[in-house]
Amino acid sequence: MRQNIVAGNWKMNNTLEEGIALAKEVNAILTENKPNCKVVLGTPFIHITEVVKAVDSSLVGVAAQNCADKASGAYTGETSAAMIQSTGAQYVILGHSERRAYYGETNAILKEKTDLALANGLTPIFCIGEVLEEREAEKHFEVVKSQIEEALFHLSAEDFGKIVLAYEPVWAIGTGKTASPEQAQEIHAFIRKTLADKYGAEVADNTSILYGGSCKPSNAKELFANPDVDGGLIGGASLKAEDFHGIIAAF
Ligand code: PEP
Repeated sequence: MRQNIVAGNWKMNNTLEEGIALAKEVNAILTENKPNCKVVLGTPFIHITEVVKAVDSSLVGVAAQNCADKASGAYTGETSAAMIQSTGAQYVILGHSERRAYYGETNAILKEKTDLALANGLTPIFCIGEVLEEREAEKHFEVVKSQIEEALFHLSAEDFGKIVLAYEPVWAIGTGKTASPEQAQEIHAFIRKTLADKYGAEVADNTSILYGGSCKPSNAKELFANPDVDGGLIGGASLKAEDFHGIIAAF
């Protein structure tokens, strides 16, 4: 059966010292209050090795926020999936809307990144979601479907079974505007049906589909109560241990 997951995305925040302190604070809270879901911290590359050391791996997983679309070699400034795996991180966030919008990441590039992540034993937390104009034009279903098809549907059922999806409507990210529980359930159910049509009901049922976009302690419970919402990808609220725990405690 699929896992409930709450994953933080720190984005480009925190010095190394601040990041280690935050990871230790989250770890301490979860040691006292055992979570009823998998918890992951998505940290900047610079932090990963130290955050892996700072947390109890049975309580907290660690994710990179990106990986290179090449395996190795002369790609100055890039970080490969193999390098990430060698730090002890277990996850990688791929296709975040900020990477799609500001760094030109297309579904074709994300397909390469996904293959490399899987080949190196990392679990991709693969982000999909529409921008406001697409939602207003009622194109959100076709947008997320084509993002999934173009970047992921070349995978075998076995490999697709290793993917975590995160539906993040771009209009809800960092805006304070959250999708309503009904909007979240509607599109999560659509995503699961899309997976079932391609890979069958078992793979679809076993895939964790997270919601992301201004999720906070005050709205997490009603979002996560939906049958097809299996947790959250959390930006702003993952930067304060108490807020992050408020969301984890929604399970
Ligand atoms: C995100 O960027 O993945 C995100 C969900 O951000 P926020 O929670 O700040 O909206």
